[in-house]
Amino acid sequence: MSGQGADALIRLVGITKTYGTGQAAFQALRGVDLDIGAGEFVAVMGPSGSGKSTAMNVLGCLDTPSGGEYLFRGVHVERLERNQRALLRRHYLGFVFQGFNLLARTSAQENVELPLLYRGEEAGARHAAARAALARVGLAGWEAHTPAELSGGQQQRVAIARAIVTNPLVLLADEPTGNLDSQRSHEIMELLVALNRDQGITVIMVTHEPDMAAYARRVVRFVDGRVASDERREAEAASCS
Ligand code: ADP
Repeated sequence: MSGQGADALIRLVGITKTYGTGQAAFQALRGVDLDIGAGEFVAVMGPSGSGKSTAMNVLGCLDTPSGGEYLFRGVHVERLERNQRALLRRHYLGFVFQGFNLLARTSAQENVELPLLYRGEEAGARHAAARAALARVGLAGWEAHTPAELSGGQQQRVAIARAIVTNPLVLLADEPTGNLDSQRSHEIMELLVALNRDQGITVIMVTHEPDMAAYARRVVRFVDGRVASDERREAEAASCS
């Protein structure tokens, strides 16, 4: 069964995270156990301050836990050196943020090429892959436009193209529709659903909005640094809009 047992793509066991020391120490994660299987679409919800971002940073290898185990395809991430974690991030993970995080005076094409540049891929391959990724998110013909020339929804599409251009196994999205109106939000969710369904990309998405969480087949709720509930449902919610 997906997400269960030893074949989980991602496995968190008793993950803790403490910020600060002594009197000022604050435990943001208090023992998180979570298995996520390849191909899942998971919404992460919970009140502000419940540890969602901290957990996403750990999952994204952007931060290290204070305790517990993080297995990614059976590899103990918490034992990796910083540069090994960066490699894992670069090869297997894609990131999408609420604020798009695009380079301002840089074309959509060049924004999407950046991760490939960091990987040292040559120009021809970069150009082709970025064009294909932009087409995949519905932006064929918009390659030369800078973020200022694009709507919010289009900017988030560019950010998604940048996240998938490396063919990641996992897409980590932190409130990807937080800056968008309702219609644009639903369009972005349809795109994430399509990437999950057609390319098998595992999607883990933080959202405050029940409407957006309804696209996921599983909702994990954080409260006070722990997983308070974990609900799976059939896929019908993803296709009913
Ligand atoms: P959420 O994403 O659910 O809003 P966070 O993971 O951002 O929650 O934060 C969980 C708790 O950890 C909050 O109380 C927050 O203030 C605290 N926290 C987050 N990051 C830091 C940090 N760098 N230093 C100290 N405390 C932090």
